[in-house]
Amino acid sequence: MTETISQDQERQLVDSVPKGLLIRGQWRPAGDGGTVDVHDPSTGELLATIASATPEDGMAALAAADAAQASWARSAPRARAEILRKAFELVTARADDFALLMTLEMGKPLADSRAEVAYGAEFLRWFSEQTNRVSGRYSVAPDGAARLLVTKRPVGPSLLITPWNFPLAMGTRKIGPALAAGCTVVFKPATLTPLTTLLLAQTLIEAGVPDGVVNVIPTRHAGAVTGPLIRDPRLRKLSFTGSTEVGRRLIADSAEQVLRVSMELGGNAPLLVFEDADLEQAVDGAMLAKLRNGGEACTAANRLLVHRSVAEEFTRRLAERFSRHTVGRGTLPDTKIGPLVDDDTRDKVERLVTAAVAGGARVVTGGAKIPGPGYFYQPTVLTDLPADAEILREEIFGPVAPIVVFDTEDEAVRLANSTEYGLVAYAFTKDLNRGLRLAERLDTGMVGINTGIVSNPAAPFGGVKQSGIGREGGLEGIEEYLETRYVGIADPFAGLDKDS
Ligand code: NAP
Repeated sequence: MTETISQDQERQLVDSVPKGLLIRGQWRPAGDGGTVDVHDPSTGELLATIASATPEDGMAALAAADAAQASWARSAPRARAEILRKAFELVTARADDFALLMTLEMGKPLADSRAEVAYGAEFLRWFSEQTNRVSGRYSVAPDGAARLLVTKRPVGPSLLITPWNFPLAMGTRKIGPALAAGCTVVFKPATLTPLTTLLLAQTLIEAGVPDGVVNVIPTRHAGAVTGPLIRDPRLRKLSFTGSTEVGRRLIADSAEQVLRVSMELGGNAPLLVFEDADLEQAVDGAMLAKLRNGGEACTAANRLLVHRSVAEEFTRRLAERFSRHTVGRGTLPDTKIGPLVDDDTRDKVERLVTAAVAGGARVVTGGAKIPGPGYFYQPTVLTDLPADAEILREEIFGPVAPIVVFDTEDEAVRLANSTEYGLVAYAFTKDLNRGLRLAERLDTGMVGINTGIVSNPAAPFGGVKQSGIGREGGLEGIEEYLETRYVGIADPFAGLDKDS
């Protein structure tokens, strides 16, 4: 795609996306005719109006998933693998459309959207490759008097709920392993960014996904529509990516049916820069960890912890790079940072910065909203933060880098771990032993050493503490959608004489 995109191209793409609910292979309006509007965060203007599911639509989607479950579970692994592989190829062939659609509904620059298409599509390929590798074991019991057969089977109909910040990848990271394992799904995308999911669903149908295996129910009544599903015994699994606050509530609701849950929740990632770090590498890493996706990522560096001896130089270089980052509509060729997704998200960023400054923080660069249409905020670097600043405890979800100075490795680890979150941490050091010590001491599900990005479809993504339960991607991802079944078998040699 050329970098200059006309309004006609944008309109044609948006018009081509299905606007209904997908239930049992049919696109249909909401039962009550209800709709929800989708906006372009760079202008605030209406982009599209789509169907908004009712609780009855949600139950129809679950009934469809339940009806399709048995035959999907029995389908040949190779057949499921080939459908996922085909889906990977179709998403890749339509990469420009997926990228533009994400930029239009979510705001990120096209370069970030294209990177997400590559990352998101890869989950379809990776799990197509895992489909044929699900296996079990047969063994002799220790006393020799029984045989133990252990097999895997799909957990069953699964509810997938995703956030707005990675509209494609958060979906494929769940749909890929669910379908590979033989589970049918009901998928509820975020209300702010449902168009990418609707295009993905259309692509999955083209790839050969049978009716009822994937059902999609965008809705502006998330709790009212998903609540009855979570309480219905036909549902066997809930996989959620979103805020810790909502995740906590869904875990409680899932207790009623003792549902299997996977939770990918919020983060408060520390990024540690030691006195022996390659400073340019650390600045590059911080740019990526902080400004990729406009800072609207669960993996975004939320606190930059820098050794006192390099803090001044690191801050100078980082602020210089931040101030050169062009803010604008994501479709424009020079844009490095798009708008935040909506006014609430921008208000939260503004509130956190204002409170930090009132408490004594210093703005090195940025520090303000950008007036005009759209929800833009300046890339911002803060120093001299009060130790109890809310911005160090809360997920910022915007392009703001608070820098905190430390003196010793122990202090850095203590600061890094002083949060209820535990998704990811980044550390920059040239000392191998220190890197390994940190990988063991940082209390997170993932650690990046001398890198500002860890996401990789072949690696297990996920957090500890209040950042979640379970893993997506890697060899572990498919396990979230599999149950273990054990079959006890009587000794087949019982009664025979010892020489048989
Ligand atoms: P959110 O408000 O928790 O929403 C996430 C999803 O849950 C949306 O689809 C939302 O629907 C739905 N939802 C909201 N309330 C619900 C309820 N009562 N019952 C059922 N569903 C409900 O989070 P967000 O603002 O979209 O996303 C940002 C958060 O996601 C951040 O905390 C970020 O760290 C986290 N995140 C985590 C990961 C990870 O892998 N750990 C990855 C990406 C994002 P509506 O859109 O209709 O509100």
